[in-house]
Amino acid sequence: MDSSEIQFAADRMLGRLAKLLRLLGYDTLYARDMSTTQLLEIAQENARVVLTRGDIQKRFPSMANVYSLKSEFPPEQLRELVERFGLDTHSGLWTRCTLCNSRIARVEKRDVESPVDSKVLRIYEDFFRCTGCGHVYWRGSHVERILRNLASLLGPSER
Ligand SMILES: [Zn+2]
Repeated sequence: MDSSEIQFAADRMLGRLAKLLRLLGYDTLYARDMSTTQLLEIAQENARVVLTRGDIQKRFPSMANVYSLKSEFPPEQLRELVERFGLDTHSGLWTRCTLCNSRIARVEKRDVESPVDSKVLRIYEDFFRCTGCGHVYWRGSHVERILRNLASLLGPSER
């Protein structure tokens, strides 16, 4: 399977990991209020890999697509997944909303309205809007910082 086609379903303990996966462009189902049973049902219907820190595997030994994370730290968890599934950490970057998992699309600066700060509008040129929840993203220093952190985290493992 092409690694860019892997879809995930993260259990409710893994909110920060889910955001990181979305940041890399991976379709990742996550809802804080979803029960384990719901998660497993949806994951199985859609052939998603279920990510967990819990004992789902013990409780549901017949589930094929479950991955139990070893680390409790989100950046290390991400690295585990990159190594285990050969995730592409570059091509999908910044294509998916970290809040709701929908695709984000570039928007013209003139079409960006509030709630974006007018100062932000003055300084930056590249804006994106989520096609699902409407959240507006822009490429600013915070993005560069996140990407740098990600690169330093994932860099050593790339050969
Ligand atoms: Zn969204």
